[in-house]
Amino acid sequence: MTGSSDDVSGLPESLRKLTDTPRVFVRRSGVPAPDAKCVVYWMQRAERGVDNPALDCAIEVANELGLPVVAFFSAISNFPRANLRHYAFLNQGLHDAEKDMAERGVPLIVRRPPENKLEQFLQDVGAAIVIGDENPLREPERWRRVLAGRLKIPFWTVDADVVVPSRLFTKGFYAQHLFRRQLDPLLPEYLVEPKAPKLEKQWPHTRIARWVLDDDITKGWRHFDRSVKPVDTFRGGAHAAQKRLRYFLGHQLPDYEAARRKPELNGTSQLSPYLHFGHISPLRIALEAKRVMDAGKAPKAAYDAYINELIGWRELAVNFVTYSRATYDSFECAEPWAEKTLREHIRDRREYEYTYEQLERGETHDELWNSAQSQMVRYGWMHNLLRMYWGKKILEWSPNPARAFEWAVLLNDAYELDGRDPNSYAGIAWAIAGKFDRPWFEREIFGTIRYMSGTSTGKKFDSRLYMALVANPGMATEQMFAEATRV
Ligand SMILES: Cc1cc2nc3c(=O)[nH]c(=O)nc-3n(C[C@H](O)[C@H](O)[C@H](O)COP(=O)(O)OP(=O)(O)OC[C@H]3O[C@@H](n4cnc5c(N)ncnc54)[C@H](O)[C@@H]3O)c2cc1C
Repeated sequence: MTGSSDDVSGLPESLRKLTDTPRVFVRRSGVPAPDAKCVVYWMQRAERGVDNPALDCAIEVANELGLPVVAFFSAISNFPRANLRHYAFLNQGLHDAEKDMAERGVPLIVRRPPENKLEQFLQDVGAAIVIGDENPLREPERWRRVLAGRLKIPFWTVDADVVVPSRLFTKGFYAQHLFRRQLDPLLPEYLVEPKAPKLEKQWPHTRIARWVLDDDITKGWRHFDRSVKPVDTFRGGAHAAQKRLRYFLGHQLPDYEAARRKPELNGTSQLSPYLHFGHISPLRIALEAKRVMDAGKAPKAAYDAYINELIGWRELAVNFVTYSRATYDSFECAEPWAEKTLREHIRDRREYEYTYEQLERGETHDELWNSAQSQMVRYGWMHNLLRMYWGKKILEWSPNPARAFEWAVLLNDAYELDGRDPNSYAGIAWAIAGKFDRPWFEREIFGTIRYMSGTSTGKKFDSRLYMALVANPGMATEQMFAEATRV
C-alpha cells in the first residue's frame, strides 16, 4: 500500500520503489527537478539525525539521484500554543540534531522569520524534491496540504514518529482493545532494526544563509509567549533522550509494572517530552526494550506493559487526532454516550467550583490536586496517575464539561513539556469526554463517566511523600526526575 500509488506512475522504478510503503505519502507527485543541486529534508516533527525514517528516505532518494541532502528547519514564532518552555527544550535539541546529521554528511540549516519560508529555501539550494515528516495535528497537517498545492517540485512525507504507519488504520477506534486487535498482527513486520542508509554524495561547503544556533532561537520575537519559563528537570535533545533511555532500561524497566503506579518514585521512562519533540524514535525505544527483555534482564510482563503504553496507547492517540481532526481538542470529540450523560447532569450542584486562574495557581481545597498542578507548572511534567486524577477533578469543579475540556487543554498545553501532543488530547478526552472508556455507575456531575476520588487515589501510593517532594524543588528534582536528563 502506498500513500497515493496512482501519483507515482511517472517516477523511475528506482524511486517508485521507495514510495512502496505505507510510511511514505506522496503529497505532490512528479519527477524530481532536473539540474537540481540537492534533496531537501524538511524537518518539522522528527527533530533528530538518527533513527529518523524521513531523513533516511531523503538519503535514499538522494543516493538514487546522485545528489547530496540538506536538512531545513524553520523556526516559527506563532506555533499554536508554544511558549518559551517548549522552545528552550526544542532549541537544546537542535544542537544534537545538527551534530548527528553532520556525522551523516547532512548539514542542518535553521532559519527564523522572516527568512524561514520553505519555498524560498528550496529555491536558494536548488532542490530536486522535498521530503518531510508527518504530524497528525490540525495546523501542521494543514501546512503540509497547502505546501503540496503550492510547490513546483515533488513533495513526499514520511510517517517517522510511530512504529506502525498510521495510514494502515483506515478508521478511528473507540476502544484500545479494538485498536490493538489490528495493531498487534502488524508489530512483527514493523518492530525491526531500521536500515540507516549512508549518504553517498555530500553537500559541498557552499555558504547558505542560516541561523547559527545559540542559546535562544526566540531572540527578538516580540509577540512570543515568554510567561512560562524553561525547566531544569529535562534537557532537550537526542543525546539526553538516549541517556535517559539507557538509564530506564538498566534500572527501571524490570520493575516498570509496579513502579509506574507510584508518582512519588522516578519509576517511568519520562521520555514523553523527547517523543513529543521527535528527539527519540518510538521504534528505537521499543527495540532496545525488547533487547533487554530478550537478554533476560526484564520480565516479559514489564516489557508488555511498557509497549502497551508506548505503542498501544500512544499510537491510538495518533489515530484519534487523525480521525477527529476538527474536534480533538474540544468537548465536541466526546463519545455520544458521554455527551448525553454529561448533558443530563449539567445542572447538578457543584460543591466546589473554581475559575481558570484558581486552577492555574493550584488554589483548590484539594492538596493532592494542587501538588499535581504544581508538579506540572514547576517541573514541566506530571505523573500519569495524577494526570488522570487532575483531568477528572477539572471536570468536577468547572462550570460545565465544555469549559472543563477547554481549561484542561490550555493548562496542559502551556505547562507540560510534552503538551500540544496527540497524547494530550487523547488523555483529556479520556478523563473528561469518555473517550476509550465505557459507562460506569451513575453519579452527580459525572453521570456515567468514570469517577476518581481523592481518598482512593491518594491511598494507591505515598501521597504524603509525593506532596512533600513537589513542595521542595531540590528534593523533587533529585528524586523524581532522572539525573541523566536534567539540565
Ligand atoms: C489528562 C491527561 C493528559 C495527558 N497529557 C499528555 C501530554 O500532554 N503528552 C503526553 O505525551 N502524554 C499525555 N498523557 C499521557 C501520559 O500521562 C503520559 O504520556 C505519560 O505520563 C508520560 O510519562 P512517561 O514518558 O514517563 O511514560 P511511560 O510510562 O514511561 O510510557 C512511555 C511512553 O508511552 C506513552 N504513554 C504512556 N502513557 C500513555 C497514555 N496514557 N496515553 C498515551 N500514551 C502514553 C508516552 O509517549 C510515554 O512517554 C496524558 C494523560 C492524561 C490522563
